[in-house]
Amino acid sequence: MQITIHRGINQIGGCITEIATDKTRILIDLGQNLPKGNVPSDDNMANKENIEDLTKGVNAIFYTHYHGDHVELFKYVPEGIEQHIGEVAKQVMLCKYEALIHIPEDAPVKVEDIQLLELFKTFREKQEIPIGNIKITPYFVSHSACDAYMFLIEAEGKRILHTGDFRDHGYLGKGLMQVLEKIILHKGAIDVLITEGTMLSRSTEKVLHENDIKLNAIELMRQHKYVFVLCSSTDIDRLASFYQAAQETDRSFLYDNYQKNVLNIFTETKGAIYKLFRFDNGYYYKHGHKKQLDILKGKGFCMLVRPKHYDQIKELLTQLPEEQTLFIYSMWSGYLNEGENQKKEYVKIEKLFKGRVKRLHTSGHATPEALAKVCNLVNPTTAIIPIHSEASSNYANLPITEHLRQKIMTTSCSIDSVNIGINQNSTN
Ligand SMILES: [Zn+2]
Ligand SMILES: [Zn+2]
Repeated sequence: MQITIHRGINQIGGCITEIATDKTRILIDLGQNLPKGNVPSDDNMANKENIEDLTKGVNAIFYTHYHGDHVELFKYVPEGIEQHIGEVAKQVMLCKYEALIHIPEDAPVKVEDIQLLELFKTFREKQEIPIGNIKITPYFVSHSACDAYMFLIEAEGKRILHTGDFRDHGYLGKGLMQVLEKIILHKGAIDVLITEGTMLSRSTEKVLHENDIKLNAIELMRQHKYVFVLCSSTDIDRLASFYQAAQETDRSFLYDNYQKNVLNIFTETKGAIYKLFRFDNGYYYKHGHKKQLDILKGKGFCMLVRPKHYDQIKELLTQLPEEQTLFIYSMWSGYLNEGENQKKEYVKIEKLFKGRVKRLHTSGHATPEALAKVCNLVNPTTAIIPIHSEASSNYANLPITEHLRQKIMTTSCSIDSVNIGINQNSTN
């Protein structure tokens, strides 16, 4: 068995992992390098030629979730290669791409990308998928995306667990340890654990449970009648937090067309299982519509905003009493703080509110404590490979047992009939 970390040992995002036997090759994720602030992604793999080279002989590609740093290079994959993603994740991706194709200046989405996306095969949780002599089983994980999975990969008598991006402080996060213990480990030991380690280099961030985001939002809404929220349009947990807070404080929940389409998908799929993920009671905001504005002025609102709404927000603010308005910034602080990751369009919106701003966010990634808990529980027999991290070597500082510490691999090696290849120049 051969495991190759093409990218991810020393960077967050741009993940590409390969698992191969003598007969079969699969890839887990084919992500694009994350852009830095307003500078587009610098990624020498983002072209047909290099992806054709990388995927030569690959039987199938499996995506853990729909974030660009895990899936975006799908568009360069030759048509004959199977690409697999969660059922709901595919719907959300299609929705996003169909919205983006109308604004070519924002993102270079082509009709062919959507056609390729439509060919994606989909899977459900716990569905065993045979590809040659490899068996892949997806298990749900909580993340800042909907329909995210970790993968159990079984082949040649070995069992590998690839966690993808995950956390245990989301609404459905506590199910993680149970699935690991009662299902995955119950059937046998894991040999190699490939795990994310995003927060190994972001340890100063305060981590709240998603439910605390909701409680804080309720508090802020009680103090402010008109609340504008900037959060990810595809983060189901966060959207649920603000939606629930709006319901609790009896105000209108407002969105645009694209956000409405995404929320409809969530309501029809995950909402059929969990009441928390139903978004039935929201409204499309019609800018300049006097009658709607009168109602909103009386009732108060929580409005989801995006950078494209800048002019709208600016105008709307002139019609509202300043002291009752608030901007809640609910994304990673790096996008707003000065520095290489800063997004100018977010700063522009923030400035409109002249200091009436509250930051309310929690990470989509596992805390160091959660990483240690997973590692100690999984207790892999052969190796631990930390990826999706700018500080993979910090993994050794986690409170894990000494014999596990010895198993952390960040360079290529061969152990217990598993060849592990780790590309150190993974930034390109
Ligand atoms: Zn990621
Ligand atoms: Zn992610």
